Amino acid sequence: MRADVLITGGGIVGLATALRILERFPGLKVTVLEKEGGVARHQTGHNSGVIHSGIYYKPGSYKAQLCRRGYAEMVAFCRANDLPHDICGKIIVALTEAELPQLETLRQRAEANGLKGVSVVERGDIARYEPHAGGLKALHVPETGIVDYVKVSEKMAERIRALGGEIILSRRVESLRTLPDAKVARAGEADYEASFFINCGGLMSDRVARLDGVDTGVSIVPFRGEYYDLDPASRGLVKNLIYPVPDPAFPFLGVHFTRMIGGGVECGPNAVLAFKREGYRKSDVNLKDTAEVFANPGFRKLALRHWRMGLGEFHRSFSKAAFVKALQRLLPDVREPMLTPAGSGVRAQALRRDGSLVDDFAFADGPRSLHVLNAPSPAATASLAIGGEIADRYAKSTGK
Ligand SMILES: Cc1cc2nc3c(=O)[nH]c(=O)nc-3n(C[C@H](O)[C@H](O)[C@H](O)COP(=O)(O)OP(=O)(O)OC[C@H]3O[C@@H](n4cnc5c(N)ncnc54)[C@H](O)[C@@H]3O)c2cc1C
Repeated sequence: MRADVLITGGGIVGLATALRILERFPGLKVTVLEKEGGVARHQTGHNSGVIHSGIYYKPGSYKAQLCRRGYAEMVAFCRANDLPHDICGKIIVALTEAELPQLETLRQRAEANGLKGVSVVERGDIARYEPHAGGLKALHVPETGIVDYVKVSEKMAERIRALGGEIILSRRVESLRTLPDAKVARAGEADYEASFFINCGGLMSDRVARLDGVDTGVSIVPFRGEYYDLDPASRGLVKNLIYPVPDPAFPFLGVHFTRMIGGGVECGPNAVLAFKREGYRKSDVNLKDTAEVFANPGFRKLALRHWRMGLGEFHRSFSKAAFVKALQRLLPDVREPMLTPAGSGVRAQALRRDGSLVDDFAFADGPRSLHVLNAPSPAATASLAIGGEIADRYAKSTGK
């Protein structure tokens, strides 16, 4: 069962990595091991479905570069494979005077990151884009789009198989060994040997890195994001996507309205500390996951710094009225009876020991291995470019 490259994780990052490596090095034997019975069962299958334009990210960062490149590659992939998507644009709305400088920062980032067509929308003109939105001033971002990342992942899986790659489902990598000329992963009572190992384990990526003996200095803290659906009769309140100005202290974008490619409008997600890494209900608790979070000195520092924000998120999680109040800041006409609880997703957010959240995408080398340590939003948008970046690093590490 020897492969050239063994990838853990059949989420969009693992799949895009397999695809880009197979395209770059035809004939290489690439195997993806996924612990679930299908691809895209975790973050990739529980997200907002937005093709992000790249407006938010610090110029020069991996997020800025890979989101811009990945945006173009994702749109091209959808076009080439007839996947439904819509470049419908969005508005980002400043709701208070205090948010205006941050809106201006975003405009400057749009310019620095090479976005096309971003325009400032004065208060009286917001209704031209979103007739029911509130706000003092906005940015219109025409490049933003929507897609179904599960469909994208399934198509990537199909392409991987067509290029001779293998995706083995229901195989959890439980241990890793490094031999002088190989890497051996134990999964589902079988050994999988390869020359090189790549960890795209998402919410479990820190644990997979630990299996490889790599001290990454970061651990994953799971943040659940909960959604409501706007009832069909009220969907006319939202034309496309309406976002607030995000708080620069956090890597989350704030609750927003997103028209979905399959129909419907999603409202959310919030960002609540999750007591289970892959738990999608409020009642889901995993003792190991919870104990790990609270025993983490980095988390305790983070909690001390941001407890007020954290409590607010818990309040909004348990009180629909509080959630609706947050949404009404963007869309004053929205009312509680218009909303029904929808799904949720859990974000894998890497945290350093000093309590700071890792903002950028992050990678680490191991022995005959590479670990993706932080791939939160916009990693679905950027996935094909992240895959390209990993293919470059693989080539460099192995002298190909
Ligand atoms: C609520 C929410 C909204 C988001 N909205 C957007 C958006 O609109 N646009 C955007 O671009 N991004 C968005 N994101 C971010 C995006 O979904 C993620 O960045 C992206 O899906 C990460 O992909 P991944 O492959 O790294 O992780 P995942 O999709 O989580 O995949 C990791 C895979 O690894 C597998 N795995 C883990 N451990 C093992 C093991 N030991 N053995 C075998 N398999 C293993 C898991 O089962 C899983 O399938 C959002 C995320 C969330 C949670």
